[in-house]
Amino acid sequence: MRIPIPTELTKGQYLGNEEYIPKLMNIPYEESIESASNTILSASYVIALVGAGLSAESGIPTFRGKGGLWMKNGEPGPNQYKTFLKDPKSWWINNINEKFDPERTKFRKAIDNSKPNKGHRALSKMEFVGILKHQITQNVDGLHYIAGSRNVTEIHGSRHQMRCIDCETRIPRQNIEMLLEKHPSSEKIKLLPPTCNECGGIIKPDTVMFGESIPNSVLEECMNQASKSDCILVIGTSATVYPAASIPQKIKNNGGKIIELNPSTTSLSKMADIIIRGQTSHTIPDLTQKLGLQ
Ligand code: NAD
Ligand code: ZN
Repeated sequence: MRIPIPTELTKGQYLGNEEYIPKLMNIPYEESIESASNTILSASYVIALVGAGLSAESGIPTFRGKGGLWMKNGEPGPNQYKTFLKDPKSWWINNINEKFDPERTKFRKAIDNSKPNKGHRALSKMEFVGILKHQITQNVDGLHYIAGSRNVTEIHGSRHQMRCIDCETRIPRQNIEMLLEKHPSSEKIKLLPPTCNECGGIIKPDTVMFGESIPNSVLEECMNQASKSDCILVIGTSATVYPAASIPQKIKNNGGKIIELNPSTTSLSKMADIIIRGQTSHTIPDLTQKLGLQ
């Protein structure tokens, strides 16, 4: 059966801890690490789908799961992108106002002050020795790159970049910030929304909004990686945001294995072949040690 791949960022259902996986839950931690290591070593193309949980121990809050931002404040609506397109100028005015949404400002500052943790570094080590071929990350924080990973696709974009909605040209966020800083408040508003030097299109943050299509080139790379893969590590994600959550399902459908690393049960747990419960700053280094990487 072919799973249709959605192209727009949409939300599925978060099952939290309600799902109970009796068979896999009873396997001792050490045994799960060992069978994950064996599965990885016998696979030919291992990739990872990464979520906010990996960066939780770098001080960046998750959205769902225990302590997640949206568990306290509720989720944003599904029409974020429509709202942006309807009135990009007003959207930008709110965007540069730190007081407009204090939670969002806190989240952005957490990213700007963060550093990679042991989990990011262990993944970078797995890539360096050729065991891990690619990471599809839902994180927008850029910490994979700082940790040294290079084969990374940021499926939900990057906090550090801006993107033209017409031609997909990307520019560093700092360029826009520097341009706006040079002007007094009254002048700033005239510069909004910023426009693309290449085609005159409207510039928005590279991070993908709910209801927005994942840029074509990005989605193609993800699907290309998924089609080559026979084993996926699903790391620190509630696996409720589509199309990202469909990637492990596609690999499983092609006969590949799913190894889940997450302290909690997720929507994907029932499909997983191996589950490693725990915080990823411990579980990924334990796995790399078992794989013989120092
Ligand atoms: P999510 O917030 O929906 O789920 C977080 C998951 O991480 C949960 O399953 C939780 O059990 C798990 N988790 C919590 N602490 C963990 C730890 N120490 N180690 C491992 N796992 C841990 O995250 P999501 O599935 O990535 O979806 C949220 C969306 O929001 C993504 O699209 C992402 O783009 C964005 N987001 C990004 C960041 C970031 O860039 N760091 C942070 C929050 C949200
Ligand atoms: Zn453009």
